[in-house]
Amino acid sequence: RAKDSGRNAIQLFHNSMQHAASERLRLENELRLALARGDFELYFQAQVDARTDQIIGAEALLRWVHPTLGEQSPTQFIHVLEESGLILEVGAWVLAEACRVCAQLLEERAIDKRFSLCVNISTRQFRQADFVERVEHCVRKNKLPPGMLKLEITEGIVIQDIDDTIAKMNHLRKLGVSFAMDDFGTGYSSLTYLKRLPVDVLKIDQSFVRDATSNPSDAEIIRAVLSLGLSLGLAVIAEGVEQQSQLDFLQSQGCHCYQGYLFSRPQPLAEFRTLLAHSVQRLHRS
Ligand code: C2E
Ligand code: MG
Ligand code: MG
Ligand code: MG
Repeated sequence: RAKDSGRNAIQLFHNSMQHAASERLRLENELRLALARGDFELYFQAQVDARTDQIIGAEALLRWVHPTLGEQSPTQFIHVLEESGLILEVGAWVLAEACRVCAQLLEERAIDKRFSLCVNISTRQFRQADFVERVEHCVRKNKLPPGMLKLEITEGIVIQDIDDTIAKMNHLRKLGVSFAMDDFGTGYSSLTYLKRLPVDVLKIDQSFVRDATSNPSDAEIIRAVLSLGLSLGLAVIAEGVEQQSQLDFLQSQGCHCYQGYLFSRPQPLAEFRTLLAHSVQRLHRS
């Protein structure tokens, strides 16, 4: 009986593995179809300077608008894009679309040249031999001032190949493109190569912001990132700010730039435009 139940357990395990594999394949095919049909969309989340409430930029965030399930976050499918290599095509689309939208908003005078649009770059995308040329092409094609484009990279990208990373970053920076280190503090990057890395901005990961007001070690990590930013001459922006108390804490520590639900959620372009218009009016009134 013990043997039987062992065999059954193995059979069950086998079935569930098969199920997971076919489920993954189904998702991959759906994502391929979504790309072909144009079911991906970019949402935009404002980045704000809390001292003036001025929108200083935005992060472009990928959404899959599923015909029946509706809007899907990348956390639900980005791993499949990465494992299948589809991320290269999707990433290229994201970059092109982000540059197009940013140039259009500038043309409409909804934003000015000080605004920066942040685009998330995946490891595989960054490692492409012609990544620099691809970015350059998108910027040129849309006549976007390169200073308006900010690429968000992760510590994972850096530690995979530090020399390739620095070379590509330097090349792009010469064009005027800037860089933000996303999810800072959650990876394995050492301070030694942070010093070598031509980044402009550190993004404090939302996992530290969440409990900053109740968890002393999270508060301490935030202080450490801020003082690191100060000593290396880097701007710091906090992610995932949901509550006024979190923002109050960040500001008390000298961190004034943030993004999060407190100010606004990631939104489709039409709604983001409305947000921009209201923020300009507010500035003119004040
Ligand atoms: P991320 O780059 O760290 O983006 C921040 C995430 O936090 C976004 O999740 C955003 O919607 C969410 N967020 C913003 N404010 C708040 C808040 O106040 N509270 C909470 N709880 N969450 C907040 P999202 O859009 O689901 O994206 C998840 C991740 O997927 C991103 O994390 C990024 O790593 C990746 N991603 C998104 N778009 C792209 C893309 O175009 N290309 C690539 N390669 N990765 C992307
Ligand atoms: Mg990001
Ligand atoms: Mg992040
Ligand atoms: Mg994240």
